[in-house]
Amino acid sequence: MKKIREILNFIDKNELYPEIKTVDGTNTEVVVNGKKVLNFCSLNYLGLANNPKVIEAAIEAIKKYGAGSSGSRFLSGNLEIHEKLEKRIADFKKEEAGLIFQTGYTANIGIISAIMNPPKVSPISFLERRGIILSDELNHASIIEGCRLAKAEKIIYKHRDMNDLEQKLKKHKNRRKLIITDGVFSMDADIAPLPEIVELAKKYNALTMIDEAHSTGVLGNTGRGTTEYFHIEGQIDIVMGTFSKAIGALGGYVVGSNEMIRYLRISAKPNMFSVAMPPCLAGAIIAALDEIENNNELRKKLWENVNYLKINLQKLGFKILGKGTQIIPVLIGEEKKAIKASKLLFEKGVFSPCVRWPAVPKKRSIIRFTVMATHTKEQIDKLLQVCEEIGHSLNII
Ligand code: PMP
Repeated sequence: MKKIREILNFIDKNELYPEIKTVDGTNTEVVVNGKKVLNFCSLNYLGLANNPKVIEAAIEAIKKYGAGSSGSRFLSGNLEIHEKLEKRIADFKKEEAGLIFQTGYTANIGIISAIMNPPKVSPISFLERRGIILSDELNHASIIEGCRLAKAEKIIYKHRDMNDLEQKLKKHKNRRKLIITDGVFSMDADIAPLPEIVELAKKYNALTMIDEAHSTGVLGNTGRGTTEYFHIEGQIDIVMGTFSKAIGALGGYVVGSNEMIRYLRISAKPNMFSVAMPPCLAGAIIAALDEIENNNELRKKLWENVNYLKINLQKLGFKILGKGTQIIPVLIGEEKKAIKASKLLFEKGVFSPCVRWPAVPKKRSIIRFTVMATHTKEQIDKLLQVCEEIGHSLNII
């Protein structure tokens, strides 16, 4: 307990303990700590968490199967709705096969350790045994944790820097290699250079893995994600993602070749030792994927809203980080100023907490606005008006 107390004291002294607010819903307007505010920090990008068809499908699944799935996929928990979802997500992503997980986080830790810490079934060479993971420096925490569990050496390459990646691949050309990257980086709001990564992987004989958490449902002509955006479907070995953002539910997935999925099904530990995804989620996700496929308007509206907010924030003089994604990080800088900005936003009826060190580098604090397809122009105009007032009062613009 002494150590824990010491850590908590450090956190309190440096005002690092995050203020976690109580929110009453997931739509564009919510009540937070008793106050009605506009929600501009949701990952429910397409509004599907509140879509009547998605909600109805969740209710139907809960009626049919019950509240939980009652066991691991390997025992009593392999419900037909799970198999239906696996086929659905593989078709949606235009890959041969799919496997679902309880969350995106468990998907990453399960997949990476299964790939890089495989069971030994035959004698292997020294270099092959010492596999390496090449990971973008801004990859998500669940990837970092997966690398740790894999017990393989991790080599970090500079963010989106293909020269640096190539140098590192060259240096370790005789070892077994896995290149991992987020598709969309959620803090810097930029996109991984996937075609170049695929080229380098071919040249140096490396496996590739991408995390489609923030791109599924959003990027590409029909919302199939970063692989569709770059027209490279089928060229990445391991495509994982989550159902917790644009899909509006919760759960992780991986899609790829029949062979890859067949292997992961029996070697990714969360799939064996944790109870399967609740059926209501599987039902909701299938309906959400149908909605994305059948209703292009949702994504169109999202991008209209994103572009409208971005252009007008820039016109006001704010510096916006990133390029080409739906996430809008506004650079504030100093931690104290970012906290103040977020507090003022809330006082004026906008919910969007600041993101600061250690989630981003020191003095690079941001307010990360996210819009939803279901925000109205009036709601976005209200946000812009509030931003203008705060921007002037805090000398940001
Ligand atoms: N990968 C990325 C890039 C993420 O942003 C997240 C969630 N923040 C995850 C994985 C984990 O997904 P989940 O919320 O489904 O556990």
